[in-house]
Amino acid sequence: MTIHSMPDYSPKPDAFNDRVILITGASDGIGEALAKRCAQLGATVILNGRDRRKLDAVYDSIVAEGNPKPAILPLDFKRAKLDQYTDLANVIKQEFGKLDGLAHMAGILGERAPIEHYTPMAWHDVIHVNLNAVFLLTQACIPLLQAASDPAIVFASSSVGRKGRAHWGAYAVSKFGVEGLMQVLADEHDRPDGIRANSVNPGATRTDMRASAYPAEDKSQLSLPEDVLAPFLYCLGPDSHGTTGQTFDSQPR
Ligand code: NDP
Repeated sequence: MTIHSMPDYSPKPDAFNDRVILITGASDGIGEALAKRCAQLGATVILNGRDRRKLDAVYDSIVAEGNPKPAILPLDFKRAKLDQYTDLANVIKQEFGKLDGLAHMAGILGERAPIEHYTPMAWHDVIHVNLNAVFLLTQACIPLLQAASDPAIVFASSSVGRKGRAHWGAYAVSKFGVEGLMQVLADEHDRPDGIRANSVNPGATRTDMRASAYPAEDKSQLSLPEDVLAPFLYCLGPDSHGTTGQTFDSQPR
């Protein structure tokens, strides 16, 4: 597997003008930083997460900067029924008529435990939120993406989704699944103007998820969410036209 990195990439200031981009996990961490940056680059962002209060704060900060007015479409992937995914896509269709980008940033860590002790319910929840929901939302959004002229999907992955690591259990397996979903989609849509699909491993980043995984580490040494966005922006924006089925890293390893 070739893993690309783009430490010096920076999109043009208006690269995302007129693009509508749905970002899951936009209420916190890397997804929040990505939503704010896409809006600064001209996108109308659709903010998805669970926590309405946190989503409102992201919305307010985007509007306060004078960037395009976002939309908020909350959905709890752990509890959502199948028709809630199509409802969400229908709202986007009514409001915007198309979707230029879909960034799958939401995720949960689950347990850090060896397979022999991993709680089956925790396994189910992690696979459901990190993989099943990603499939369901992608499937619901494909017609909207096909209505756009340069559609792109980017999946947040992880180093443990490319090489298994002890005690990372369902989280690692879900990210292997995300990589597989990305590759299958990329192959199915591999034609000029097809939907491109790529994955990005942000690497160690100072967020709540990272703090749960490594509670004792020195957080001051970690990259901030704002600093790991380059490949996500590349994959969502016009500069990656024609690039599909590829894996990216945000940080050197
Ligand atoms: P955070 O824990 O900071 O944020 C997680 C986001 O996912 C929140 O917006 C949260 O919403 C949302 N979310 C969680 N559960 C659900 C749910 N059931 N339904 C809807 N939304 C949900 O995570 P990070 O920013 O650290 O991670 C972003 C992505 O990057 C993840 O996919 C993660 O696996 C990946 N990653 C992160 C790394 C890191 O070091 N941080 C390293 C490698 C990969 P809410 O706030 O509303 O609950």
